[in-house]
Amino acid sequence: MTCIKILNDKVANQIAAGEVIERPVAVIKELIENSIDAKSTRIRIQVTNGGKSLIDVTDNGIGMTEDDALLCLERHATSKLKESNDLNKIRSFGFRGEALPSIASISKFTLQTRHADSISGTEVKVYAGKLLHKKVCGMPIGTRIRVENLFATVPARRKFLKTNSTESAHIHHAIKLTALAHPQIAFEFFDSGKKIIHSPKCLNINERITELWNKNLTKDLLHIKEEKSSKTPFLSGSISKVGIDRSTRKDIHLFVNRRPVDSRLISLVIKDAYKGAIPKHRFPIAFLLLEIDPSEIDINIHPTKKEIRFRNESFIRQFILEKIANVINCSKQIYTAPNIGEKNIGISVGKHNNTIKSDKVIGYESLKKRNSSNYICINEQKNNIPSNKIKNKTLINWKFLHHLKRHTALYETNQGLIILNILKAKQRIRYESILQNKKPTEQISQSLIIPQQLEFEPIPSDTLLKNLELINQSGFNIESFGSNCFRVFSIPYWLELNKTESLIRDLIDQMSISASAPNLKHEIFKEYVAKCAIKDFYFDNTTDNSMTLKDLPEKLFSCKNPLTSPIGKKIFFEISWSDINKKIN
Ligand code: ADP
Ligand code: MG
Repeated sequence: MTCIKILNDKVANQIAAGEVIERPVAVIKELIENSIDAKSTRIRIQVTNGGKSLIDVTDNGIGMTEDDALLCLERHATSKLKESNDLNKIRSFGFRGEALPSIASISKFTLQTRHADSISGTEVKVYAGKLLHKKVCGMPIGTRIRVENLFATVPARRKFLKTNSTESAHIHHAIKLTALAHPQIAFEFFDSGKKIIHSPKCLNINERITELWNKNLTKDLLHIKEEKSSKTPFLSGSISKVGIDRSTRKDIHLFVNRRPVDSRLISLVIKDAYKGAIPKHRFPIAFLLLEIDPSEIDINIHPTKKEIRFRNESFIRQFILEKIANVINCSKQIYTAPNIGEKNIGISVGKHNNTIKSDKVIGYESLKKRNSSNYICINEQKNNIPSNKIKNKTLINWKFLHHLKRHTALYETNQGLIILNILKAKQRIRYESILQNKKPTEQISQSLIIPQQLEFEPIPSDTLLKNLELINQSGFNIESFGSNCFRVFSIPYWLELNKTESLIRDLIDQMSISASAPNLKHEIFKEYVAKCAIKDFYFDNTTDNSMTLKDLPEKLFSCKNPLTSPIGKKIFFEISWSDINKKIN
């Protein structure tokens, strides 16, 4: 007796679907890739309910013959790969012949297609992998695929789907990225009947970025000059100006042979190219299209084909490093340094040698040393002394004597003299006031005379929308204005106005990574905001006038831990009268 059986196609397709089709956006990606492979110049995508109820992709590509319309639904049926050798020179997006049968096995699937050689089109309807009908239909040359009730046959998978708006945001994002990599194709995207994208054919990636990304971003970008050449490798796209950065690498978009990919190697190279030009733990924005001989890469690593390997890593590394470093060096940007006591020290980036290795290029490293609080890791020191005791003991008559130097103040007490670091004391006060939702000054936020209008990408925008209440509890007043737009009416009292967008972006990143229980989320978020509030990077010195040096000790000692700054540095020290007497008597 044998126990082993070959799985039937229906089961095999459903298993394949489980691997490749995680959520609606995966269907969209597969269908668009097929349309691109079919040499379409116009692709229209429609979805309803975040793609859960309907996904409809129509193209004007080469279409399929009547026979192919049936064959394409067979497992491992592909027109793109004939023998294993072809794998090394693959130019198409698909080659596994798995997508259509997988999608058709978990939905109600309608294919309408017409090849240039046919006088009419063919319609094929399948439900959960079972052919319902095949018939003639009238249509222009091209293909239209409708996927209804995705995961209808796999309810377990349906349960894992997020809200319609989140699924839509992912679809919107994916379409934008695909459109970016294919400027020569016109894209249209409708979400529940509403037109979201209408982008005609563009000249190049940079024109597409301007079409699809928010206008503010476009002015923050530097273009990689396109040389007219068909030589590979070839790099085009845009990178952020020095001084524009993000807290995660999510805004680094990389396409190799127009395929969106993850490459640790290239991400690191990009980061290297900016070395010294952006803070250590921050990332630039990049939209990069790399054209390379297909035999130089291996894309056959994962079914969703995100990760990529290069055969000659060191060559690619050097090639990209030089290109990007050149663009950065050639741009004479003013880099707005983080506050170092004084505000906005501008350091100009001039032309330099070929690499950007030297810290002198931007001088960021040296700035960093002077401004180490920018790169802190919070390390709350545990004080063994009960806080009440500290208060009672030390609060006795701190008499303000003199502002000694920029950050140092002198006080007199009955026991001796106190030398205090003003910056650290204020950091402690601000940090605890945020954690305890207390107002150290009269107001927790500052109203903006002119509300600031911000626009985010679909996914961050969805995250912000879902967490507006949370963010508005920390001194912001932000309202949604639809279509990924927001208006900021007020910001926390400590925030420097021109850092508003940057901080909100960082907070969104933070919100998207902390998917904890709602009450915990609130605590974690508050702590994150408090950490931001003590970074000079965000902090506005000019709004801090309300705290006079005379009042400072009292405010400091109303903190739980008045002895150290939030990163565990001593805030003040005392020289007792007896010590002073010993020295001079
Ligand atoms: P793959 O893309 O890996 O070949 P798919 O299952 O996605 O596998 O598609 C199977 C085949 O169906 C493709 O190889 C192609 O010949 C045909 N096909 C799919 N979509 C289209 C389309 N939009 N236009 C023309 N042909 C298509
Ligand atoms: Mg395909």
